[in-house]
Formats: sequence, structure tokens, C-alpha cells
Amino acid sequence: MAAPFVNELLSWYREQRADLPWRDADPYQVWLSEIMLQQTRVETVIPYFTRFVQAYPTVEALAAAPLDDVLKLWEGLGYYSRAQNLQRAARIIVSEYGGALPAAPEDLLKLPGVGRYTAGAIASIAFGRAAPALDGNVIRVFARLLDLEEDIAASSTRNRLWAQAEAWLPASDVGDYNQALMELGQQVCRPQNPLCPACPISAHCRAFAAGRQALRPLRTKPAPTPHYDVTAGLIRDARGSLLIAQRPLDGLLGGLWEFPGGKVEQCERLVDCLKRELREELAIDVKVGALFAVVDHAFTHFKITLHAFDCRYLGALPPHREPQALGVKDWAWVTEAQLADYSFGKADRLVIEELARRREMLL
Ligand code: SF4
Repeated sequence: MAAPFVNELLSWYREQRADLPWRDADPYQVWLSEIMLQQTRVETVIPYFTRFVQAYPTVEALAAAPLDDVLKLWEGLGYYSRAQNLQRAARIIVSEYGGALPAAPEDLLKLPGVGRYTAGAIASIAFGRAAPALDGNVIRVFARLLDLEEDIAASSTRNRLWAQAEAWLPASDVGDYNQALMELGQQVCRPQNPLCPACPISAHCRAFAAGRQALRPLRTKPAPTPHYDVTAGLIRDARGSLLIAQRPLDGLLGGLWEFPGGKVEQCERLVDCLKRELREELAIDVKVGALFAVVDHAFTHFKITLHAFDCRYLGALPPHREPQALGVKDWAWVTEAQLADYSFGKADRLVIEELARRREMLL
């Protein structure tokens, strides 16, 4: 049976919904927006979305683009595997679906980077299919509406919520209904201090009726975030060129470029770590000089402190005559000006900003 609050929710949504560039867009743009919005705020996504659609207006254009160009356009948006998956999926859509996004959630789920939530969101918003879309916001709204006493991180609770979401789907306007729930979670049923007196569906909310909205959803305390020290070398040859490396395509920051280095092992000195990583990943030897910059950066599940050192290139390890792509996808010697042509992660980008700042001071 459809949710008892559908009418109130849809009236509220239609009156106040935000005007976003992907509203009422074609399926390609709906898909693109849903991928960009994963773990990312709407205000951050808008300029990236606009630039991306200008550069790649169709699935075919995205499928045909070089991955480096796609990553460059994605630079700064984070979670770079999304960009890689987006392009892989575009190629599948072109080769298997003639360039048109499939409408069925089960087909969407087969595309790289599309999980249960994203499949439901695209199917309902772009195609009007009756599919639920439970993101973190909607889970919070449902946990409060139902005054759930179970931990929402537990898979049994998630299954129960998906079943409830399925049962509550309205007979029509499912796309608007799903977007309305997400927007209610963002704007009204906020994680802290939900605005219950202004909520259009408060009459249906069990947690509000019981005065327990601040206690819902129930969740176990997360484990403390791990922290790692990481080294990187600003390796210069005799002409002053810098050696940069491209990360393997699979894994964190896949396909992005970086100043080579790696994670410090237990009880290892920073300098020893850097020399070891350069031997293992590129088969090169360097003379490590002064510490150039220290940068802190947080990823979703861990934090790092990046220690970047000035280094002088001594040469490739015998029998090689040049660096080897052992633990990296590729490497290149570049000038400082050419760094802007490559896509880097946030921490390395901060090091590049420091390079530019020091250069300006010398002028
Ligand atoms: Fe959330 Fe309050 Fe509305 Fe319940 S009444 S759905 S807790 S904002």
C-alpha cells in the first residue's frame, strides 16, 4: 500500500523544490548527476555537472573520450573511481544498448558504479519506473517515521527498510516521490535538529509523536578513523624536470597522477620509506633532500599526512636505463608548468600550489 503521507509530501516538494540543472533532464544527465552526487554536496556538484555536460553532451561523447581527459574534468570532485566507472559504463551503454540508458533497475545495476540506490534513482527519476531509492537521507527519514529501535547499520535493518520502501511506493510520480524524500531528509529531517514543526509529514511520524526524533536513527558508534603517514618525492633531473607517476587504474585515486612515494611502514623512517617505494614502484634511486611540504588530507575511511621531499634523481636501478612502471601505470618527466595538464588528487594538488607559491616568492 502506498505511503500514507504521499500527497502531503508531493505538494510540499512541488512548492519548494530547488531548481537544479539536472531537474527534468534526459536519462544521461540524470545518471551523471546521481553519480556525481554520491558522497558529494549539491553545491559542489553543480559547476562540475555543467562543465561535464558541455564537454560530453551525450553518452557516445563520454564513451569516446580519453580517460585522462575525463579525470582532468573530474579533478577536485573526489572519489575518482566514479569517473572511471562512469566511462566504463558509457562504453557498455553504447556497445550493448545502442547509446540509450536501460530503464530497468536490474539492467542499470549491471553497470559499473551503479548500486541499488543509484539504479532505483535513475529508473524512477529518468523513466518513471516503480523503484525505491534509499540513500542516507531517506534511511534517516524512514527510521524516524517508523521510530525504528534497530541499528540502521545492521543489514537486517537495511533489508527491512528496503522492503518498507518498496511497499510504500506510490502508483504514479515515483520519481518526484523519491526526490521529495531525499530533499525532505536534506532540508527538514536533518541529521541534527530536525525541523519537525515545519515538516509536511509530521502527522505520520512515530518518532515525533513519541518525542524520540533526536534518538533516531539508532546507530552504533563508528570505529576511530585510521591515520597513515605517506611520503612523496619532488624528484628533479639535471634539467629541473619533475618525475610524476600515474596510479594504477584499480584502487584509490585510480588513474590520477602523483608525486611518487607511498605509505610508511611500522617503525620505518620517512626517508627510508620514500627510497624503498621509489625502488619498488619505479626502480629508481634518488638523493633525498629537504622536507618541502607537509599536507594533511582526509579520505572517507582514513586520514593521511603527506610528507613531500625535494629529491635529486640519481638514475634507474641496473640494468635499467630509465624508470620502470612496476607499481604504477605510467610515469613522465614534466616541467612545473606542465603539471597543470595532468589530473592530481587533492593532497598532491596542495603540494603543487606550494610549488607555485614558492616560485612567486622568488620572482
Ligand atoms: Fe523527520 Fe521530524 Fe518530519 Fe519526523 S516529523 S519525518 S523526525 S522532520
